[in-house]
Amino acid sequence: MTQLIDGKAIALQIRQELKIEVDKLIFSGKPVPGLAVILVGENPASQAYVGSKIKACEELGFLSVSERYPETITEEFLLERISLLNQRSDIHGILVQMPLPKHISEKKVIEAIDYRKDVDGFHPVNVGKLVIGEPGFVPCTPAGIMVLLERSGNLPDGKHVVVVGRSNIVGKPIANLLVQKSKLANATVTICHTGTPDIAKFTREADIVIAAAGKPNAITGDMIKDGCVLIDVGINRIPDSSAKSGYRLVGDAHFESCAPKCKAITPVPGGVGPMTIAMLMKNTFSGATGQFFY
Ligand code: NAD
Repeated sequence: MTQLIDGKAIALQIRQELKIEVDKLIFSGKPVPGLAVILVGENPASQAYVGSKIKACEELGFLSVSERYPETITEEFLLERISLLNQRSDIHGILVQMPLPKHISEKKVIEAIDYRKDVDGFHPVNVGKLVIGEPGFVPCTPAGIMVLLERSGNLPDGKHVVVVGRSNIVGKPIANLLVQKSKLANATVTICHTGTPDIAKFTREADIVIAAAGKPNAITGDMIKDGCVLIDVGINRIPDSSAKSGYRLVGDAHFESCAPKCKAITPVPGGVGPMTIAMLMKNTFSGATGQFFY
């Protein structure tokens, strides 16, 4: 029987555990963790993500500040807003929702956030810490994948993991987490990407496949071996006239052909997705307390 890894249930566990820690913090008279989220423009997916992040803060009793601006704002204005949030002692995490309008440099924005408040883990200082295995902010989705592997009983220790995708948000950080010398990592890692001529050659050898290509059906059943663990990070909207919204969400793996061959698989939705916000809350808690879990 294939194990369906329930990201919703594991994310709920994480949030419940965190709630206990937050209550202890408040009881001891320490300031509540504070998260500031900046949204530029009207992208519906980004609006939904920001809404979920604010709601998660409220549920945990965090302070949350959301700043919403039209896409016509200048880069200078946005950098100034970040600088003000950097100075606020009640704000421990700052997140600028990506993507940004083309006239604003994502690199400049990421580097403008104080690395001690960089709850997305995108600042070069935190990227460096992750690579050398020092405590720091780890990007939320890769951190969530590590927790899913651990809590579903599919530890990567000694396994061959093939990561499909090399973005700075998912592919590269998850590969770096997995190779760390730790009992929760310690994997042999291969990264495949658009420059890999024959991806199936690698995925067929994998004990664990992490699909983060952002392409529906990038992984099909014939590309994996029996007994493999498949973590599907992809969130792709495909047109569906039977759905009220006119679309439905699918992952990067062709679920019907992959699931029967897998020892364990994450569904989309309900797999990696819910973990991302749970880990953002953990990162905000880390920003407030200085206690890092990586
Ligand atoms: P991205 O577009 O920045 O990167 C995709 C990477 O995959 C690139 O490095 C590219 O080289 C590689 N790639 C593209 N097509 C490929 C193919 N056919 N074969 C092999 N490699 C290929 O995307 P991202 O930000 O890394 O996100 C990847 C997917 O994960 C997207 O669907 C995104 O929506 C989803 N995502 C989900 C969460 C979550 O919370 N579950 C969070 C972040 C991203």
